Amino acid sequence: MENDITTSGEKIELYGETFDTTDSIDVPELMIDQIIGQEHAVEVVKKAASQRRHVMMIGSPGTGKSLLAKAMAELLPKEELQDILAYPNPEDNNNPKIRLVPAGKGREIVMAHKMEAQKKVQSRNMLMMILVFGIIIYSFYVGQLLWGIIAAIMILLLTRQFMPKEEQMIPKMIVSNYQKEHASFIDATGTHAGALLGDVRHDPFQSGGLETPAHDRVESGDIHKSHKGVLFIDEINTLNLESQQSLLTALQEKEYPITGQSERSSGALVKTEPVPCDFIMVAAGNLDAMEKMHPALRSRIKGYGYELFMRESMLDTPENRKNLVRFVAQEVMRDGHIPPFDKGAVDEVIREAQRRAGRKGHLTLKLRDLGGLIRVAGDIAQSEEVTTVTEKHVLAAKKMARSIEQQLADNYLERKKDYQLFKKKGGAVGRVNGLAVMGGDSGIVLPIMAEVTPAQSSSEGRVIATGMLKDIAKEAVQNVSAVIKNITGKNVINHDIHIQFIGTYEGVEGDSASISIATAVISAIEGIPIDQSVAMTGSLSVRGDVLPIGGVTYKIEAAAQAGIKKVIIPKSNEDDVLIEEAYRDKIEIIPVTTIVEVIEHSFVGPEKNRIVEKLQNLANFKLNLDLPDV
Ligand code: ADP
Repeated sequence: MENDITTSGEKIELYGETFDTTDSIDVPELMIDQIIGQEHAVEVVKKAASQRRHVMMIGSPGTGKSLLAKAMAELLPKEELQDILAYPNPEDNNNPKIRLVPAGKGREIVMAHKMEAQKKVQSRNMLMMILVFGIIIYSFYVGQLLWGIIAAIMILLLTRQFMPKEEQMIPKMIVSNYQKEHASFIDATGTHAGALLGDVRHDPFQSGGLETPAHDRVESGDIHKSHKGVLFIDEINTLNLESQQSLLTALQEKEYPITGQSERSSGALVKTEPVPCDFIMVAAGNLDAMEKMHPALRSRIKGYGYELFMRESMLDTPENRKNLVRFVAQEVMRDGHIPPFDKGAVDEVIREAQRRAGRKGHLTLKLRDLGGLIRVAGDIAQSEEVTTVTEKHVLAAKKMARSIEQQLADNYLERKKDYQLFKKKGGAVGRVNGLAVMGGDSGIVLPIMAEVTPAQSSSEGRVIATGMLKDIAKEAVQNVSAVIKNITGKNVINHDIHIQFIGTYEGVEGDSASISIATAVISAIEGIPIDQSVAMTGSLSVRGDVLPIGGVTYKIEAAAQAGIKKVIIPKSNEDDVLIEEAYRDKIEIIPVTTIVEVIEHSFVGPEKNRIVEKLQNLANFKLNLDLPDV
């Protein structure tokens, strides 16, 4: 049977073998073999595990960083695991002793101590009873019962105060590896200092026979719990500098004493002997995290480990599609509640992986989100009480599992429609329907207006952009002004150009609006209207070439949803377009390479030809002379 899926209308071979449902697909047992598309990372992690090296992983959320760290723990030898016990220190109560024993032994030791203490307490109680009853009976015979009772009470009170408290001598197990299948994986993301480095609880009764002994109040931290295992910290830069410093000490010394973290508690007086913490550290984050990380900690990891960059997409090959089929099977198995997927449903998931990659010939590796889609589709099928998930369920899930940004974009669209901020028909001078992306996976129509006024400064005109522009967007405006100067000639010098991004409460970033800005300004300067049924996206070079942008699929879909009829996109993005079937007949896609083509497709009215000709002449002139544009 031929297995293929349809993308952008063409047939693509999906998977060489057939399968009925994902139930028949083998899922590897080891977690490291379940990781998809990050071959380099897998290789490095295997090496790091065998050599006990630290790893730093940089990449987008949901690309498998914590999964890799977990897989690493699975690869570590479990024979090396140990239990850690805290013992009372008779010489200095505030300095509990620390002992290490092989994994599983700690439990036995604590049990043995408990039994012994119980026995001692029982025989002592027995002795006391005999003594007390003896005194009372004797005093009764000699006619001094009252004194006898008083003496018995005194003896009871004194022994309670001064006899050794056996139960307080029982060691406390602070790290247990009892019956652990493999080395610990501890996720210390976002923990406070106490949880990370260990703590000593406060004792409300610090004397009077009611106090809890110091060793019993010791709590191990994540650094100790991950002894001989893996300590994973995501968003490493959010850890305060003091904790990062302590973490560095722990990494270097491989042991770290536990002390009370709260200065005013009685725990602050206590400091244990050094507690072993020989863990492998896996630090993760995005590029930003690396910059804000404590430099000494970073250099320690760099010097004694590996740095990894996680990939966000993989090539769309039959092999990788096969891996994605296995991914669906894995997620179904991991969830444990949802029914298996049939081939149609898997095809749809793969199609979504292509769309989300946003790059031609690639499949996304932001697999957490894709996993979310799989679970929602599974839940829908389950609510229908069917035994397999089909294409219909995945399509329904795509509608339902919209990200916050997508929902916000919907809401934005509604709002804009209410206030008629969009124009979908007719012509307007200096007004363009630009397109932008929010949160990486949802497009919005972003109207841009331009107005030209006489310059306020007598020497030179200025470009003034408003609408919460961020750095790259501001630079884009500057670049665009170079093109505008070129195209419109001298008159720009004695004019101010105002550019407004309308309704951008969330701020605008990126340069993908630069062709829209240029078009709006040229229209304003020349007084030629722009067709409002057109939307556009593209980056503009200072020479007037239209350069590729991101998120083209989402932008086109947003335009179609807003009722726009034509959308201008960079030609180089043509193959990235993977719009949903539902939008295909609603919108015409026009790929372009230069700003002249943009103007050709967006300007209307009798004056249009004049400017197009002017621009073409200018372009030919430049081409012939090969002059620099700016
Ligand atoms: P991160 O730590 O990078 O944010 P996670 O490792 O927590 O991402 O990934 C979340 C989930 O997404 C995993 O539990 C797994 O189900 C799935 N996943 C992410 N990346 C991969 C991958 N490369 N291979 C297989 N599954 C993955």
